[in-house]
Amino acid sequence: MAIFVRYLEICRICLSEDDLIDILQVGNMSAVRIKDINKYFNIQIIPSDENKSRKLCVNCIRKVYDWRRDVRSAAKLQFVIDTFDKMARGESMASKKRNT
Ligand SMILES: [Zn+2]
Repeated sequence: MAIFVRYLEICRICLSEDDLIDILQVGNMSAVRIKDINKYFNIQIIPSDENKSRKLCVNCIRKVYDWRRDVRSAAKLQFVIDTFDKMARGESMASKKRNT
């Protein structure tokens, strides 16, 4: 039985055939992308897997980008949380001193 599906021309994540981007053809960012795709979708894209699509559709890539951006943003904003934490600790120490 012949399989007529163009199995390399589908999104690895959602099987879409539209707006595909080859993950391995985007220069030296691809290692990071493969890692991110693995972290986000839990899908391992291995360059030597020749019979498995290495392409993602724009929608699925956007999800990874958005998630990566949110992760960076959250990490950056932790200094605000840490500042509040320090302030709160400082205040509680000051109030303890006042009480003694
Ligand atoms: Zn997709």
